[in-house]
Amino acid sequence: MIVRMTQNMFVCDICESDMSSSHYHIPAEMKEASEIKFVHMECCSAEEIKKNLLSYAQNQIRFYSDIIDLVNDTNMKNIKDFEMKYGNYEEVSQGIRIDRDTYIASLISELKKR
Ligand SMILES: [Zn+2]
Repeated sequence: MIVRMTQNMFVCDICESDMSSSHYHIPAEMKEASEIKFVHMECCSAEEIKKNLLSYAQNQIRFYSDIIDLVNDTNMKNIKDFEMKYGNYEEVSQGIRIDRDTYIASLISELKKR
């Protein structure tokens, strides 16, 4: 059995070459079971790109729907639950943020080539 280094963000999990060889300055994220793999946009199949776009959109819908729920039913428990799920200010502001528009535009740009 081959144990692969999946924690390494700087190498594509599909072709195993350096992330910097991509045309895009951000990698595509592929969620598999409990782990997230970082891969070149160029290495994704059309199906993988579509799956990625769909799950991204669904996560955004869930996020905004949770905000609406929180506004409609505001109490300390619900605020704490929201922060537990999405992180509090300190956690979010220190995290690595991927520009959403750039990410979606990169995926769609690759999808055109398939
Ligand atoms: Zn690759």
